[in-house]
Amino acid sequence: MSAITRITVLGTGVLGSQIAFQSAYSGKTVHAYDINDDVLVTARERAQGLAKTYLNEVAGATQASVDAALDRLTFTSDLSVAAADADLVIEAVPEVLSIKQDTFSKLNDVAPAKTIFATNSSTLLPSDIAPSSGREDRFLAMHFANRVWQFNTAEIMGTPNTSKASFDAVVECASEIGMVPIPMHKEKAGYVLNSLLVPFLSAAAQLAAGDYADPKDVDNVWRVATGAPMGPFQIYDIVGLNTPYNIMMAGDEEQQALGRWLKETYIDKGRLGMASGHGFYDY
Ligand code: NAD
Repeated sequence: MSAITRITVLGTGVLGSQIAFQSAYSGKTVHAYDINDDVLVTARERAQGLAKTYLNEVAGATQASVDAALDRLTFTSDLSVAAADADLVIEAVPEVLSIKQDTFSKLNDVAPAKTIFATNSSTLLPSDIAPSSGREDRFLAMHFANRVWQFNTAEIMGTPNTSKASFDAVVECASEIGMVPIPMHKEKAGYVLNSLLVPFLSAAAQLAAGDYADPKDVDNVWRVATGAPMGPFQIYDIVGLNTPYNIMMAGDEEQQALGRWLKETYIDKGRLGMASGHGFYDY
């Protein structure tokens, strides 16, 4: 059992709400923080929605176990209340460097000295944020994947200044909240998952955009030849096409051409992925 029993999650959006609920479901005492009380109304609704999802999708989940998770989860728009006595704070605020720096700087003023800070940033390196935390030895990245109860990896990545004790405590805590911890040896943009997934999805787009094969057949090859449960275009539909589009448009000319293809052929026609009912497939 790690020393981490009280977890605070900053930001109650897509990922923050999932991290908070999953931590509470796993027995941790959780404070979820967001910027104002209006947002917290939505946060409470998200938690109720997750309780239903867990009942439907998580093996062994019962009404009693999801109710107990909700009981362990409290919401606040007061950062001092959120941080008081936290063993670990996991930040899931928007992916904007200045917002994250500002959040950690304010957090450092109100959190106890013992508290470890973690960022769930997908694309920023923890060493870009760490100086604003005021406690670089207790600062690292803990990166979850969307739908944490199902795709349950936690990639844990320190900076050169992260202490071994903090790193090890967070690895242990990740296991305790039902994640498969993936300890990174050093900083890498994209961690493991996106270092593999981004070029994989791009290669698939090149095959379809170049009219070498239909998306469905690209997926079929990947599933049949490797035994993987999903092909790349099924993954595009789950992720949603806007995120890969944004990544492509930030790349070189070849990547931007793929981005334009994705936009013109799918996004502009309302085919944004599974959440919109249409993507490479119809749902
Ligand atoms: P989101 O937009 O759904 O949620 C962000 C939340 O932060 C909102 O509830 C917002 O009210 C709140 N917020 C805004 N400003 C704030 C502030 N100053 N202080 C505290 N809270 C503030 O975003 P998301 O998709 O949950 O992403 C959050 C983080 O998680 C990002 O760093 C993102 O890279 C990372 N992440 C996202 C995914 C994903 O699939 N969505 C996966 C892995 C990691």
